[in-house]
Amino acid sequence: MLTASTDIQYLKGVGEKRAELLRKKGIDTVGALLRFFPRTYLDWRNQTPISECPFGENVCVKAKIISPVKSHYIREGMTIYKFTTADDSGYMTVTLFNQKYLAKRLNEGCEYLFYGKLGGNFVMREMSSPEIRESGFLGIEPIYPASAGLSSKAIEKFVKTALNTLPELDEVLPESIRERNGLCGINTAVRNIHFPLEPESFERAKERLVFEELFVLQTGLSFLKKRKRGLAGCVITKNLLPEFEKTLSFALTNAQKRVIGECIADMSSGRPMNRLVEGDVGSGKTAVAAALCYISAGNGFQSALMAPTEILAEQHYKTLSEITKDSGIKCALLTGSQTKKQKNIIKEALKNGEIDVVVGTHALLTDDVEFNRLGLVITDEQHRFGVAQRGKLSAKGENPHTLVMSATPIPRTLGLIIYGDLDISIIDEYPRGRQKIDTYFVNSSYHPRIYNFIKKFLDEGRQGYIVCPLVEENETLDITSAAEYYETLKNGEFNGYSLGLLHGKMPPKEKERVMRSFASGEIRLLVSTTVIEVGIDVPNSVIMVIENAERFGLSQLHQLRGRIGRGAHKSYCILISDISAGDTKKRLEVIKNCQDGFKIAEEDLKLRGPGDFLGSRQHGLPDMKIADVFADRKTLHLAGVEAERLLKEDPTLSADENKALRAEITALYKKLNQN
Ligand code: ADP
Ligand code: MG
Repeated sequence: MLTASTDIQYLKGVGEKRAELLRKKGIDTVGALLRFFPRTYLDWRNQTPISECPFGENVCVKAKIISPVKSHYIREGMTIYKFTTADDSGYMTVTLFNQKYLAKRLNEGCEYLFYGKLGGNFVMREMSSPEIRESGFLGIEPIYPASAGLSSKAIEKFVKTALNTLPELDEVLPESIRERNGLCGINTAVRNIHFPLEPESFERAKERLVFEELFVLQTGLSFLKKRKRGLAGCVITKNLLPEFEKTLSFALTNAQKRVIGECIADMSSGRPMNRLVEGDVGSGKTAVAAALCYISAGNGFQSALMAPTEILAEQHYKTLSEITKDSGIKCALLTGSQTKKQKNIIKEALKNGEIDVVVGTHALLTDDVEFNRLGLVITDEQHRFGVAQRGKLSAKGENPHTLVMSATPIPRTLGLIIYGDLDISIIDEYPRGRQKIDTYFVNSSYHPRIYNFIKKFLDEGRQGYIVCPLVEENETLDITSAAEYYETLKNGEFNGYSLGLLHGKMPPKEKERVMRSFASGEIRLLVSTTVIEVGIDVPNSVIMVIENAERFGLSQLHQLRGRIGRGAHKSYCILISDISAGDTKKRLEVIKNCQDGFKIAEEDLKLRGPGDFLGSRQHGLPDMKIADVFADRKTLHLAGVEAERLLKEDPTLSADENKALRAEITALYKKLNQN
C-alpha cells in the first residue's frame, strides 16, 4: 500500500530514471512530493481583451490564430516561430523561440489561451514565449521548478497521482492549535496548495503550511534547547561585578550591566549557561567577556576566550591583562605563531591550573590543550567559527558555561531561529560620548577631492582605510584589483605617504604583520579588501572610503564602517558609487542616515531576503520550503507561542496526537546536523 514514506520511485508513472531526477530536488518519498510546492501559478480563469491589456504585465488572452505559423532560421541553435492572433478587440503577434514541438501543434484558425507579458506598442502588440493552452482550459495551474528531463507538467501529473492514490496524510498540527489559529487541516491544505480552485483557497492553504513549517522548526529547536538544559554546570556563588567595575577606566553602560547580570544569573543557576551576546560594533562586548572571566576566576574556575584572528586575541589579552593586573588573576595568550616552547609552558600551566584566563585563537582547540577546571568558554565573533568548533572547546571542561558573542547584527526575528539553542542577550546601547560618524554618498567624479580630504587627516596624524572595489563574485579579481589600486595610489596620489595593502589571500603571517603595523601607526593608510571587516580597534583611524559601495550588502557596509569612529576624533565614511538608480540609492541612503546595526540588518533583510542575508549558510538554518522568516514574522511569533505551550503540555512529545509532529522534528534534526 502507498504511504507518505513510500519511495518516490514506486509512485505510479515515475520509475527509476525520473525518481533520480526527483531525488535531486529533495523529493525522495511520496510525502516529500506532496510537500514540494509550486513555484508560481498561472491563472487562466479571466481573460483580458487584447486592446485592453496593459503593457509589461502578465495577462491571459483568448485569441484565434489567424496566420500560418512561420519559422525563421536565425543561426545555428536558434529558430524563431511567429504568427498573428486576433480577438474581437484587436491583433497580437506571438513569437516562440526554438519551441519546435509546440509550434507544430498549433493550428491556424483555432482558438487558444495565451499567458505572458504583453510587449510592443499600440500599433503592434506582441507576446514572446507565452504559455499556451487549448481554449477549453480554465483553471489555476501550478508551475513547479522544472529541470532537464523533468517538466513542470510531469511533476504536476505525479502530484495528481499521489493525491488520488495516497490515503489521508497524518496531521502534524494538533487540533487545538489549528482551532485557536483558524488553520485548515493538512489534507485540505496540500490539495489546495497544488490545485487551488480560487486564490482564497490558496491563501488558506499557504497560511496553514507556513504556520506548520515555522511551528515544527521552533518546536524542534526548543526541544534541543531543553535537552541541553538538563546538564549540571559549574556554579558561581560570588558576584564580583562591583570589584570588576573598579578596575575599569570607564563606567559600564546600562546595557552592559544588564547583559552581565543575565549571564551571572545563568552561571549561578546550577545549569550551564548557553548564551549569545549580540551587540553592534563598538557596543563594548569585550568588557562583558572580561567581566565574566574575572568573576569566574574569582570563583575558582578557569576561562577561555577564543577569537578568530591573532590580532584580536592579542588585543583581548592586553585588555584583560590590564584589568586583572592588581587582582592576582593570571592571564595568558596562546596563538599559533608562538614558539613551541612558549606554547608548552602555557599548556602546562593551564593543565595544572596556574592560569586563570587564557585568550587565544584556534590554537586553543588542539588536543593537547587541557584544563584543570574549565568553567567558562567564550567565543568572540562567533560567525567566524563553526558550531562544531565551539563544541570542541567546551568539551575540554565538564559542561562549562558557554557564551558566544557576535557583531553581525542578526535581526531578532532571525536570531531566535538561527540561535534557537541559545538564549540571547542584546547590548542595545553605545558607550556614552561616542561621536556620530558622518557618512556621505558621492560618485567617482569626487575622487580628487576625496584624496585631498584623506591627506588632510593623514597630515594631522590620523589614519584611514580605503576599501577596494569589489569585483562581483570573484575573489581572485578582487585581490588583483586591490593590489593594482594600492600600487596606483602609492606611486601616484599618495606618493610619500605610508601605505599598506591587505587582502584575504595573503599568508596569515603577512596579514598579521600589516595589521600590526597599522595598529602601531606605522602604516597610515590601509588599502584593503573586506578582510578588515573583523578587524581591530584602532581608534586613531578616522576616515574610511568605500569604492563601488553598491556591491556591498548593507550589513557589510555597516560592519566596515564600524572600524572608524572608535576614538575621540570625529570620523567620516565616504561611499563611492556611480549608480544612482532607485534601489541602490535607497540602500545607500539607509547607511547614510542610520547607524543602528539592528535597523540596518532589518532593512537588509527586507531588501535582499533571508537567503542572501545569511550569506553562505554559515548559520546552519535549514532551507525554508514555504515560510519566509521575515515576511511571515507574525506567524513566526504565533507558532513560537504554540510551540512553547505544546512542549509544556507534552515535553517528550509522546502523546499519540503528536506522533506525526515528532516524526517531522526527527527529520528536521537530520537536516540541521547536515548543515
Ligand atoms: P565590540 O562590541 O565591537 O567588540 P569593543 O569591546 O571593542 O566593542 O569596545 C569598543 C571600544 O569601546 C573599546 O575601545 C572599549 O574600551 C570601549 N568601551 C567599552 N565599553 C565602554 C563603556 N562603557 N564606556 C566607554 N568606553 C567603552
Ligand atoms: Mg569585538
